[in-house]
Amino acid sequence: MLTTPAPGPVTLSRRFAPDATVSGGNILSMLAAMGPFRRRGEQILQENGITDVQVEGWYPLAAYVTALQAIGSKMGPNTLSQIGRQIPNHVPLPPGIDTFEKVLASFGMAFDMNHRGAEPGAITYKMASARTATITTGTPYPCDFDRGVIVGFFQKLLSTRVTVEAMEGCPCKARGGETCTYAVTLPLM
Ligand SMILES: [Zn+2]
Repeated sequence: MLTTPAPGPVTLSRRFAPDATVSGGNILSMLAAMGPFRRRGEQILQENGITDVQVEGWYPLAAYVTALQAIGSKMGPNTLSQIGRQIPNHVPLPPGIDTFEKVLASFGMAFDMNHRGAEPGAITYKMASARTATITTGTPYPCDFDRGVIVGFFQKLLSTRVTVEAMEGCPCKARGGETCTYAVTLPLM
């Protein structure tokens, strides 16, 4: 009988060591952000060898990325984006992140704190004006997830709905690039 073998874990880009890890806290925030679909999320993590997640534990990043991609393909890119958006409601946020630039800077710091075996500076930003900037993200996560997280953090920290658009002519992880670049615009007050 022919069966399709389960895909192995993804190969991470050269920005990450093959044994790079992600914090249990990060995974638990993602599960909490899944809300009513949490059980499904736990199942998919389990299929990828991630079980009994503890907040202080560290887990293989490649397996976690594979699980997120499976969530995206089984539940759809919009669900993945929605999960990303809900994440700031489930992570401890330090006080004082209350300006456009401080939020822009927080993505890289949060990523570096929650991942090991990654080159520092996975997520960088450049201000273009008081309300426009670009964010370049070299996380190993699916584009829709990253994008949801960005929208969610601005929503949570500045109570505002930013526009996040893929920059034309830039590499994209979905097309084999190592990074994606987004133009972020604050609405006019
Ligand atoms: Zn992309």
